[in-house]
Amino acid sequence: MSNVPITVAHGDGIGPEIMAATLHILKEAGARLDIETIEIGEKVYLSGNNAGIAPESWDSLRRTKVFLKAPITTPQGGGFSSLNVAVRKTLGLYANVRPCVSYHPFVSTKHPVMDVVIVRENEEDTYAGIEYRQTDQVEECLKLISRPGSEKIVRYAFEYALKFNRKKVTCFIKDNIMKRTDGLFHRIFDEIAQEYPGIEADHWIVDIGSAKLADTPENFDVVVMPNLYGDVLSDVAAQIAGSVGLAGSSNIGEQVAMFEAIHGSAPRRAGQNLANPSGLFLGSILMLVHINQPDVAELAHNAWLKTIEDGVHTYDMFKEGVSTEKVGTKEFADAVVARIGQKPETLKPVSYVENVVEADPKPIYSIREPQKKDLVGVDIFVDWWKGSFYGVADEFGALVEALNGDGLKLANIANRGVKVYPGGLPDTFTVDHWRCRFVAESGEGSGVSHAQLISLLQRFDAAGLDVIKTENLYNFDGEKGYSA
Ligand code: NAD
Repeated sequence: MSNVPITVAHGDGIGPEIMAATLHILKEAGARLDIETIEIGEKVYLSGNNAGIAPESWDSLRRTKVFLKAPITTPQGGGFSSLNVAVRKTLGLYANVRPCVSYHPFVSTKHPVMDVVIVRENEEDTYAGIEYRQTDQVEECLKLISRPGSEKIVRYAFEYALKFNRKKVTCFIKDNIMKRTDGLFHRIFDEIAQEYPGIEADHWIVDIGSAKLADTPENFDVVVMPNLYGDVLSDVAAQIAGSVGLAGSSNIGEQVAMFEAIHGSAPRRAGQNLANPSGLFLGSILMLVHINQPDVAELAHNAWLKTIEDGVHTYDMFKEGVSTEKVGTKEFADAVVARIGQKPETLKPVSYVENVVEADPKPIYSIREPQKKDLVGVDIFVDWWKGSFYGVADEFGALVEALNGDGLKLANIANRGVKVYPGGLPDTFTVDHWRCRFVAESGEGSGVSHAQLISLLQRFDAAGLDVIKTENLYNFDGEKGYSA
């Protein structure tokens, strides 16, 4: 079998040591790799490159499409952009996959039976980073959830479950509140789940779901969620497994995939042969499966489990009474290499060769006929401040109501989502950020024109009101496309 080209970055801090240890184990386990090495991180940043990665390194990543990355140090102070974010966005790495496994009784954990895989959407949600200061008092962050983006991640979660013989996929959302964005994610989850009748599908509102995940992780298998919840909960899951230092993760795109440890570059531990290479090593196991070397992944992973089980531990895992030997980074790697061919006896051995079912390739998102879209109104956001947080809504309402006409009428005014006009209460707290909803004079749902909206904006301007933004209101196939 021919070698698979991969790109490797040794990173900063403990990065070079844990990468050397990882590559040593992979080599001895027979990994068939052609390694291209690139420089990323601190040195590159400090040489004046704000992105922390040289332009020619992108060529290597595009060529090999597989990236094994050690942690890097982002220099303190302004001007440096996150390399991880750049890699993720540039290469479209839409899925972040983090297996969280407990190794009881060899690694302390409150949850002896835990084997959960968090699948986090990686490109959308509030993480698009689209933010605005709109008024003196209010900042805005846009939460964007797309149908194809959600289809990609949800289908990935089900395909992952199929491939790795997992029994259940759970979706975490908050669609009782965010009925449109999280509602879309949930609907797509329900649609796609139907295509996988052999896999159980369920969903939780993210708050109670998280509580259950933290309390009884043994009841979860694969959990898929939008970006923000996934960011928080993948750390929670790794922490309660007892193994933040032991967790690896993959970032999967349509073309390229990146594999890494979840921890950082631990600069204070650097250069002392102290660091635990397990997180990066387990990331590299995900990589071996991804590049279709399950035989090597199985040999190396079982040797690692046997090492953990034999009590050969680095300082961070070491526990009197459980551990038998405290070792450094290099010695830990040597201990794993010495166990290649062995399997753990207490911990469950992994079997990638037999268990990995090759899934039927499916298109990861559908292209569908766009629905019929009708303009039915507009939300006009206004910056208006009268020196008080209370009792000013009626005064503002009268100013706006006076702008009715030309086939449009004011439906209501809200302040941070709370309706305050007409019929608001003087006890409602209001800031300088007002949303004025205009619909057709003939009734909500009737069509309006862009020309009507433009002339309405002109009336706002003539009245001296500071319009900070507009959101058009649309119906799609006759159904409301905006929150009430
Ligand atoms: P960190 O993960 O580097 O360290 C947190 C703690 O865990 C420290 O006490 C450290 O000594 C310990 N630790 C981490 N990995 C270990 C290992 N393999 N073996 C033994 N102990 C380990 O987090 P931090 O201190 O917040 O960040 C340090 C640097 O890492 C920062 O510059 C940060 O930007 C960077 N960072 C990079 C990545 C990445 O490249 N993916 C991720 C997180 C942080």
